[in-house]
Amino acid sequence: MFESEWKIISKDLLKDISKAHFLTYFKNTSIISVENNVINVGLPREFFLKWHENNSKDLILLSAKNIWSEVRCVSFVVDISLENKSCFDPRKIFPDSNINTCNTPKIRKLPKKSEVKISYSGEEFVSKMVSSTYTLDNFIVGGNNSLAHAVSKVVAENPGKKYNPLFIYGDVGLGKTHLLQGIANYVKNNNCNSVVLYYQTQNFVDEVVEAVRSGKSDKIRSKFKKADVLLLDDIQFLAGKERTQEILFHIFNDLFDANKQIVISADKCPAMLNGLTERLVSRFSMGMVVDIQMPDKETKLAILQKKMHENEVIFNPKVLDFVAENSNSSIRELLGTFKQMVANYELQGVLPNLTNTIEILKKTNRDIRDSYAECKNVAKVVSSIDDLSTIVADFYDITVDKMKSSLRTREYTLPRQVAMYFANKKLRMPLKNIGNFFGGRDHTSVLSAVRKIERDKKISTDFWREVNVIKKKLGF
Ligand code: ADP
Ligand code: MG
Repeated sequence: MFESEWKIISKDLLKDISKAHFLTYFKNTSIISVENNVINVGLPREFFLKWHENNSKDLILLSAKNIWSEVRCVSFVVDISLENKSCFDPRKIFPDSNINTCNTPKIRKLPKKSEVKISYSGEEFVSKMVSSTYTLDNFIVGGNNSLAHAVSKVVAENPGKKYNPLFIYGDVGLGKTHLLQGIANYVKNNNCNSVVLYYQTQNFVDEVVEAVRSGKSDKIRSKFKKADVLLLDDIQFLAGKERTQEILFHIFNDLFDANKQIVISADKCPAMLNGLTERLVSRFSMGMVVDIQMPDKETKLAILQKKMHENEVIFNPKVLDFVAENSNSSIRELLGTFKQMVANYELQGVLPNLTNTIEILKKTNRDIRDSYAECKNVAKVVSSIDDLSTIVADFYDITVDKMKSSLRTREYTLPRQVAMYFANKKLRMPLKNIGNFFGGRDHTSVLSAVRKIERDKKISTDFWREVNVIKKKLGF
C-alpha cells in the first residue's frame, strides 16, 4: 500500500539522512495507512522506533504534506511481519544498486523486548516505559483472564465511555502490565493525537514528590489533566504515601469528571489494599473491578504453543505438558522456563526432555524443589484412601481420627476437605464412599468441600502452593 508515495517521501528524506542510516532504518518499512490526518508508518523491528522518533518523524511529516496537505501527524507502528514481506528495499532508491549491505543488522528471529518510550506529538508528555511488544492481540485468553481482557478491549476501543475507572487486580506475573500497556498501545496506534500516560506507580510517586519538593504541585495537576487515558500500574505502591494520594485524588476527579479514562492495576482488589485512603479506594471501586486468576493448564499450554511458534521451535508435547502441569502459577515464570529450554536447545543443541526440564523447573519453582526435597521417599502414587488420608493428616500434623471426627474447627475441616478433594479428583472415588470414610458424611458436604478447595486454589497463590506440595507428597 502507498508504495509510490513512500518512495517519493523517502527519496525526499535522503537530503537530510545519511545513506548508511537510510539503508538500515528504512529497510522493509511501509506506510500502513493514512487516516484521520495521521500517517501510520510500519517498522519491522522495535529497535527502529527510537531512531525514527528522533530522526525521521518531522522530515516525513514535512514531505508527506506535499502529497496529502491535510496530514498533521506521523505515528510509528512496529509490525514484525513486515520483515518477511520485503516491502521496501532502500537500495533501489539509489542509482547504483551495488551497495554493500553486509553491515546491516542480521535479522533476529524474535524482536527482543526492550523498553521504549513513546513521545506524544510534540507534547511534553513522555509515557514511561511502554513496550510495543505488549498488545491486546497477543494476550492469550483463557478462563483465568477472559473478562479482564474483554473489558480492556472495550476500554481501549472507547476510552472514557464505559467501565471507568477500570481496576485490574491479580497476583504477580499474571499479565496486568501486559494488559495496561496493551490498552496504551491500542489507543495510541488508533489515535496518535490522544495523550496516553502510562506510569509504574513508583515513577508516578517520584514525579509527584519532586513536583511538591520544587513547589510545582499545581503544575503536575494541570499536566495530568491533559491526559485522555491515564494508566497506573501496581497502585499498591502508593500505600502510606499520603501527599501523593491526595494529589492523585484530585487528578482522578479532574479526569473522571471530564470522562477521561483511568486504568489501574494492583495485586489486590480495592477493598483489600492497605495504606490507601478510604476516599481513593472508593473511587477505584466506582467503575469496573476485574481480576486475573492463575492460569489453568490449558491456558499455560496455549501460551507455550504460541511461544514455540514465535521461536520457530517444536518441543515434545509430553515435556510441554509436564511444564504446564508443574510450573508455578505465574506466567512470567512459565515464560522464564520456556526461554531457558530454548536457550539450552539453541546454544547447546540440547532438546528438552523430562530430566533436563525438571532441572530447569527446580531453579524457579519452589514447589518442585520442596517436593523433591521432601518427597524423595514417595516412590509410588498413593492408591488407597487410607494412605491418602494418612499423608494429608501428617502434613497438617493431626491424626486421621480427628479428620474423620465431627470436629468443625478450621484446624480439622481444612485437612478433611483437602483429603476429600484428592480422593475425588485423583482416586476418582464416588462422593458417597468418601463421605462414608470421613465419619459417614453426606455426599453433598463432600461435593461442597471439593468445590471449596477448587475455588480457594484459584484465589490464593499460597494455598495453591500448599495443595501442590501435598499433591507431590501423594505422588500425583
Ligand atoms: P504482572 O504485571 O501481572 O506482574 P506481566 O504483565 O508483567 O505480569 O506478565 C508477565 C509476563 O507474562 C509478560 O511477559 C507477559 O507478556 C506474559 N503474559 C502474562 N499473561 C499473558 C497472556 N495471557 N498471554 C501472553 N503473555 C502473557
Ligand atoms: Mg506488572
